[in-house]
Amino acid sequence: MVRREQDSACGSEGQSEYVGRFRTGRLAGNRPEALDTWRVTTATLDVATGVASLLGGEPAEWETTAEDSLEVLTDYDMVRIIVEGPSAIRARMLLFGYQGKVLHDCDGTRLLAPEANAGKPCGCPETFEERKLAAKSGRGPAPSICINFKLADEPALGRFRFVSSSWELAKTVADLQRALTEADGPTTCDLALELVELTTASGVAVCYRKPVVRVLDDPALPAPYPAVRRPSRMLPPSHASSDVPARSSKSPVLPGRQPAAPHRSLNSVVSGLASVSGTERTSGPDAPEAVAQPRTAAGVLFFDEADRVLLVKPTYKPGWEIPGGYLHPGETPSDGAAREVKEELGITPPVGRLLVADWAPHPTEGDKLLFVFDGGILPAEERAQINLDGVEIGEYAFHTADQIDMLLIPRLARRVQAALDARSRAATSYLEHGTARL
Ligand SMILES: [Zn+2]
Repeated sequence: MVRREQDSACGSEGQSEYVGRFRTGRLAGNRPEALDTWRVTTATLDVATGVASLLGGEPAEWETTAEDSLEVLTDYDMVRIIVEGPSAIRARMLLFGYQGKVLHDCDGTRLLAPEANAGKPCGCPETFEERKLAAKSGRGPAPSICINFKLADEPALGRFRFVSSSWELAKTVADLQRALTEADGPTTCDLALELVELTTASGVAVCYRKPVVRVLDDPALPAPYPAVRRPSRMLPPSHASSDVPARSSKSPVLPGRQPAAPHRSLNSVVSGLASVSGTERTSGPDAPEAVAQPRTAAGVLFFDEADRVLLVKPTYKPGWEIPGGYLHPGETPSDGAAREVKEELGITPPVGRLLVADWAPHPTEGDKLLFVFDGGILPAEERAQINLDGVEIGEYAFHTADQIDMLLIPRLARRVQAALDARSRAATSYLEHGTARL
């Protein structure tokens, strides 16, 4: 996983308590999905019902290891909020390294951490475009913006939080903080998911939503949703007591993690495989026998909305491939896959669960162990961000499943077909030579 939860943007002092989070996406199965309307997660049933009665939607449970186990998918792409002042918005630029370690923490020009170096020039490029390129190539930090606010129509619900890595929002933060400073007190704003429609340089039409905070000159303007409240949709008491964990009602502070990727189960599969090949061969009574040292590689399948598979075309050899490559020493397969995706495509979408592990010795290159992960549907916003390295990869395109056998070499085609099959069954398959071994 390259993309990390960026709560560290919010700091620990002052506005650290909140009752729920506004989110722009969710996991559908294991696939990240961008939403057209705000989604709110919370640990507290009262907050969930309050949000639902104001903004529509129904409180529901969702699968998470975090405490904010209730979600409301609202009907609105814009909500009216009260921001207490400039300190309620924190923006920083973060670069994460191995295992989520923060390597660079700055405001774009000066370091914010570690404390000993705070205030020193950080060396980031001057313009947002240059910074974005540096971030895409993995050299520079990316935005992490934290906004704390209350709902203008129901401030008593408590403070909510929105954390974003949007470059477009980052560009507006300075202006926003200036406006909040001038306002000198709680300020009414609209928090919107604004529709962006554009055509890329290669002629592809894309649309996506970007988060926007708009300071309202006239707070008396009508709210974007009906002034008349809908009837409150309180859940019947029986539901509240049986389905919602007791901790929900008395735990206003959320750990605020993103939907957890299935990292744990994935690692156990990987280490399980490793220990099988390791112990069986070395446990004999005599001197240890030679141990297999397969070359290990990992790739990712990404899809478009029509379920076509993203393939990349290397510049240095004919044919197509899937994004991925050999692991570096010390890398897990999922980390290696994420790194290769970033290097080849310039994007850092989450890498989902394992689809296949394939033990596929190569006739001339020896033992190989290959992992294919599910990258899910690549949202239009992410597709628009693809920036081919131009050195190893010259082209990418989405292809249907029945084109795969023509475009890929047979051993890879078998593996990808098996991965598609595993994905359709929401399963993970163990393969030998690209064929499922039951
Ligand atoms: Zn910097």
